Amino acid sequence: MRNMPAVLVVEDEPAIAELIAVNLRHNGFRPTWAMDSVSAQREIEAAVPDLILLDWMLPGESGLSLAKRWRANERTKAVPLIMLTARGDEADRVAGLDAGADDYISKPFSTKELLARVRAVLRRHSPEPSGEAIVIAGLSLDSATHRVSFLEQPLKLGPTEFKLLHYLMGHAERVHSRGQLLDKVWGDHVYIEERTVDVHVKRLREALGAAGPMVETVRGAGYRLTAKPVVPVAVTAREIAG
Ligand code: CA
Repeated sequence: MRNMPAVLVVEDEPAIAELIAVNLRHNGFRPTWAMDSVSAQREIEAAVPDLILLDWMLPGESGLSLAKRWRANERTKAVPLIMLTARGDEADRVAGLDAGADDYISKPFSTKELLARVRAVLRRHSPEPSGEAIVIAGLSLDSATHRVSFLEQPLKLGPTEFKLLHYLMGHAERVHSRGQLLDKVWGDHVYIEERTVDVHVKRLREALGAAGPMVETVRGAGYRLTAKPVVPVAVTAREIAG
């Protein structure tokens, strides 16, 4: 099962935001709604989405200004961005694209058109097959080839453990609550108990073998992947390798 792309919808009109969110949800996306630049920024800081749908006319900071800001930021500069606007003339369109938008949709738009453009932009941005591996303290995960290894030794992981590790390694050293992990790894967690996370963390640790201690339990808070676990990895690893 592929992860559902997370789409941040920045739109101050609830009716339009709702229409977009419902259509995205029904088509396999995970929408989050922010109604102004402040809450949009907060969402971005919590998690970088796979795509941003950004309304031009917002209360406070405009969509255009937000687009420029996100394009100038290391964390968000590569996130695909589509501007939504009632301003349809060419000068506006050019200004939007100059600010770093990948595409531009004029209001009113059909939901069909919106979905087609969202898919097209995501396709253009989909990672190259030779995507870079994430490497942390000898633990390596290549999302393109779905390979995980520790100190060059290949490891076998189930699909959920792979996704869990991918998320933890992509956000290493930070503590994630069970609820956050369900949200990010499982996507729609309505029908899944938080205990499920514990089960998969246990399996993940087992699958990681000597690198297992890198997945730490933070009492009362959740889990984190760390390069410097309390139980040192390097010693155990050397014993196994030797
Ligand atoms: Ca608006």
